[in-house]
Amino acid sequence: MANPVSNISGHVLPRRGLMFILSSPSGTGKTTIAKKLLADDDNLALSVSATTRPMRKGEVDGRDYHFIDRAHFDAMVADDAFLEWAEVFGNCYGTPRGAVSDGLEAGRDYLFDVDWQGAQQLSQRAREDVVSVFLLPPSIAELEGRLRGRGTDNDAVIEGRMARARDEISHWDGYDYIVINDDLDACFERVRTILQAERLTRKRQTGLIEFTRELMR
Ligand code: ADP
Ligand code: 5GP
Repeated sequence: MANPVSNISGHVLPRRGLMFILSSPSGTGKTTIAKKLLADDDNLALSVSATTRPMRKGEVDGRDYHFIDRAHFDAMVADDAFLEWAEVFGNCYGTPRGAVSDGLEAGRDYLFDVDWQGAQQLSQRAREDVVSVFLLPPSIAELEGRLRGRGTDNDAVIEGRMARARDEISHWDGYDYIVINDDLDACFERVRTILQAERLTRKRQTGLIEFTRELMR
C-alpha cells in the first residue's frame, strides 16, 4: 500500500527510509498500534528485538521477539551486535543491528517498539533517521485497567509495571511527537499521519535533486 513517496500522478521518487520509534508506559496500547501500522503498511517492517524475558502466551519466537538466554544476550553485547540495549523490568532487551542500515538506504522504514532508553540511544546514534512517538494513556486508572484486561501478567508483574509507569511518563519530553491513546482508531490515525508526513520531509526524498532538475530543464 504505502511505498516510497508517490505524488498525485503516481510518480515514485527514491527516498531514504526512517526509523519509526513507538514508546509508551507499558499497557498504553503500543503493541496494538504497532500491529495495526504493520498490517496497514507494506513498506514498514518491524525491527524484532532480542529479549531475555520469558515468552508470553500467544507470542512467537522470531516474530514478536528473539527469545534468548542471558549468556547469549551478553555475548551479543560483547560482539557489539546491538544498535542499542537496555534492562527493563529486570530483563534485557536489545535491537539487533541486522539489516536496518541497508534497508534504510533502499527506502524501507522500520518500526521500533522500544522503551525510553532505547529511544534515547537510537536518537543519539541516528538522529536524522529517527522519528519518535510517545503514546500516553488517558489516565492512570485506565492504564491499570488495560494491563489487567490484557490478562497476560500476574498481580505482582502488574504492580511492577504500574510502579514504573510514572517514571516512564516522566520521559515524555525526549520524543518528537506525543499522542494520547484514548480512542484506539483516532490514535492510530494520528500515528499513521505522522509516519506519512515524515516520509515527505525534504531530507528523506533523496530523489528530489534529479526530479526537480528535470522539471527545471
Ligand atoms: P503495550 O504494548 O503498550 O504494553 P498493549 O497494546 O498490549 O499495550 O495494550 C494493552 C491492553 O489495552 C490490550 O488488552 C489492548 O487491547 C488494550 N488497548 C489498547 N488500546 C486501547 C484503547 N485505545 N482503548 C481501550 N483498550 C485499549
Ligand atoms: P514487554 O516485555 O512488555 O514486551 O516490553 C517491555 C518494555 O521493553 C517495553 O517498554 C518495550 O518497548 C521495551 N522494549 C522492547 N524491545 C526493546 C529493545 O530492543 N530495546 C529497548 N530499549 N526496549 C525494548
